[in-house]
Amino acid sequence: MSESELMGDEVLDGTWSDESEWEEFTGAEPAEDSGTAAPQPVLAVVGRPNVGKSTLVNRILGRREAVVQDVPGVTRDRVSYTAQWAGKGFTLMDTGGWDPAADELYAAVTAQSAYAMEHADAILFVVDAITGATATDEAAARILRRAKTPVLVVANKVDDDRRVADTADLWSLGLGQPYPVSALHGRGSGDLLDAALAALPETPRESLGRGAGPRRVALLGKPNVGKSSLLNKLSGEQRSVVHEVAGTTVDPVDSLIELDGQTWRFVDTAGLRKRVNFAAGAEYYASLRTKAAIESAEVTIVLLDASEPVSEQDLRVLSMVVESGRALVFALNKWDLMHDDRRRELERELDRGLRRIPWAQRVNISALTGRSVAKLAPALRTALESWDTRVPTGALNSWLGELIAATPPPVRGGKQPKVLFATQAQTRPPTFVLFTTGFLEASYRRFVERKLREKFGFTGTPVRISVRVREKRKKK
Ligand code: GDP
Ligand code: GDP
Repeated sequence: MSESELMGDEVLDGTWSDESEWEEFTGAEPAEDSGTAAPQPVLAVVGRPNVGKSTLVNRILGRREAVVQDVPGVTRDRVSYTAQWAGKGFTLMDTGGWDPAADELYAAVTAQSAYAMEHADAILFVVDAITGATATDEAAARILRRAKTPVLVVANKVDDDRRVADTADLWSLGLGQPYPVSALHGRGSGDLLDAALAALPETPRESLGRGAGPRRVALLGKPNVGKSSLLNKLSGEQRSVVHEVAGTTVDPVDSLIELDGQTWRFVDTAGLRKRVNFAAGAEYYASLRTKAAIESAEVTIVLLDASEPVSEQDLRVLSMVVESGRALVFALNKWDLMHDDRRRELERELDRGLRRIPWAQRVNISALTGRSVAKLAPALRTALESWDTRVPTGALNSWLGELIAATPPPVRGGKQPKVLFATQAQTRPPTFVLFTTGFLEASYRRFVERKLREKFGFTGTPVRISVRVREKRKKK
């Protein structure tokens, strides 16, 4: 089939079913929801501890995901959720991350507010209406008054009408009208969301700023795999400590590290540096942390402990990364402990466990000795290049035409599905849509992916292929 035939009016002039069939191998929602494409406006929730931020987040989400923590001083990571109100989708960012070790509550408030001002499209500033504005609230308000993003003051814990009058005092924060709300009972939360959504712009700022600044890297892996050791090694090896990048506020929970002549932003590293230990619910927090870090990152380094059997927990982290669509570099740490027997065993485990990600680069490192850590930066660069790659439609279709002529899709129910046309709908990760006359089996889609990779590369990034079946035209 020639390209002109593939693109001809005759072929495209049909009815396409709108619902594309997203692959079971991603197990994910369409890319619109993955956080990498068509970014949604971000609504951030800030405020000092105990004003009811988590309760409000739970209220908005309508579920108990954000978990109210009754243990004082527990650090809750910054977590983003996909939310909806009145048919409009947005990302709700819970900037909970309080550092129990921070001597200065002011400093924490400042950092948190600054982060929200940098990354969010609108901010909910939560204040406890029963207590009234404290000195810390006022410090936060001073920062927030400088925000270019809209800020709404949430006067929380207004559980009944009698308390509404008290909220008038909160005008003094200089951020406009306080919205009386009971996060606990739901009172006033609808009006608040109406106002918040009206304040959110159509085009989120992250989509504008994307690509600017240092590339964002997440260090991931189960506890004790060597994440903080690697972070220390990498920051120790850099020639100069970077404090600032022109035009961007550095999130206090991130680390800027120069590797191989390039500055990288290692996201959500505050916990790694401080080695925070969570007594109860450690696993739960580890998984929340992983989720948050993946969401903030463009590329991930997944660490495995080469001296231990590959575990379920390792594979879970890997599949979270693949599902998120982030680029991936795979590091086998503690290579200094390697010996021949273990090595043979390890290769067998990897063959079994990593069958589905043959495209990931692998680096054998030792965070302890520094062995091969210099190979990480080039691998990150390769993975990001693949993640950003766009194949022009013309080149894609002429290649695909030849591939399909040589190896057509298998016949199904007596019919041979035709692939009419393909396009790369998105980058980050590369996402392809095949327009067809019939369903393509998973094995054939995997075949197309394999060939696509042989031809165009994509080392280090997941690739998504979706199939859009053209509905038959009814005969008159
Ligand atoms: P955060 O530290 O700001 O996230 O605060 P939490 O959401 O953990 O809430 C702190 C405490 O305030 C918890 O005991 C909540 O149950 C309580 N709380 C939160 N919202 C309300 C509310 O609207 N009314 C009342 N009475 N209590 C609330
Ligand atoms: P994290 O929980 O993933 O941050 O892991 P840590 O960095 O705290 O490391 C856990 C343990 O593994 C510590 O005792 C480290 O000294 C040790 N460790 C980390 N990297 C290496 C390595 O490359 N080789 C060896 N032999 N031990 C390591």
